[in-house]
Amino acid sequence: MSADPADGDAVTSEAAPDRPKLPPLREVIATHGLAASKALGQNFLLDEQLLDRIAAIPGPLKDQPVFEVGPGPGGLTRAILRAGGNLVAVERDRRCLPALAELETVFPGQLRVISGDAMEVDARAQVGDGGHVIANLPYNVGTALLIGWLSTSWEPLPWWSTLTLMFQMEVAERIVAKPGGDHYGRLAILSQWRSDARIAMKVHRSAFTPPPKVMSAVVHLTPKPAPEGVQLKHLERLTAAAFGQRRKMLRQSLKGLPGALDALAVVGIDPQRRAETVSVEEFVAVARILSQ
Ligand code: SAM
Repeated sequence: MSADPADGDAVTSEAAPDRPKLPPLREVIATHGLAASKALGQNFLLDEQLLDRIAAIPGPLKDQPVFEVGPGPGGLTRAILRAGGNLVAVERDRRCLPALAELETVFPGQLRVISGDAMEVDARAQVGDGGHVIANLPYNVGTALLIGWLSTSWEPLPWWSTLTLMFQMEVAERIVAKPGGDHYGRLAILSQWRSDARIAMKVHRSAFTPPPKVMSAVVHLTPKPAPEGVQLKHLERLTAAAFGQRRKMLRQSLKGLPGALDALAVVGIDPQRRAETVSVEEFVAVARILSQ
């Protein structure tokens, strides 16, 4: 085994006697001509120890259903498979398919690769209820995919049991932000009103091939039962209006939203406050009244 984990050499469990040894990830990239495409948001992770740590964030994966977006050359995919997950992976770049087919052979029955656009794939239909989502997301569709998973029906929980997702640091900060800061806005509220969201790991840009311009972080979300009587569409409209003019007082930013100023009064929120000072729970309380 290489002394340098960034070489992407196999870790001990992958070299199990009953499992053929896989080539290092750098070799896979060279063999299959996987020059990184900027348009596809390709920044690959090759450090197997780092990848194992990411795959460990959701907890034990043995025999658990897992959905991965963008396996690329297969680094995170290998880590999920080593951990024993039953994985469905969706990849848009057809150049990656031969490398992923090799993984299907080495981990028989554990991996199914879908060639296509994750924006068009019904993850729930593919992995079933209780699935974990784990991905080093392409930056151009990462937020849209997250919002899709957060907007799924909650009965009383969503179909997914955890989301473990790599984002650019700035997006990660917006997901976990608390009131009062510049990062706090719609994404924080949509992420936190019925999930716990935390930054599980910061990842230096040098860990990627090629390195992106900015740092990254893995965000871990676990769902909570949804607050009763609150419809997502009302929370969305409320936060869109409130943060549409985030520097203005609520009495100004919400005046075009029917019933919103009355709802503020019922909840006891001073209309002179600005959106960035209003907690997730306060937004939920206002949205509950608007949902009636
Ligand atoms: N998982 C690999 C890793 O960690 O090294 C690659 C991560 S790279 C940041 C993002 C991956 O998503 C690329 O393999 C890219 O081809 C793929 N991708 C980009 N857009 C996609 C889409 N709409 N649907 C599915 N995969 C996509």
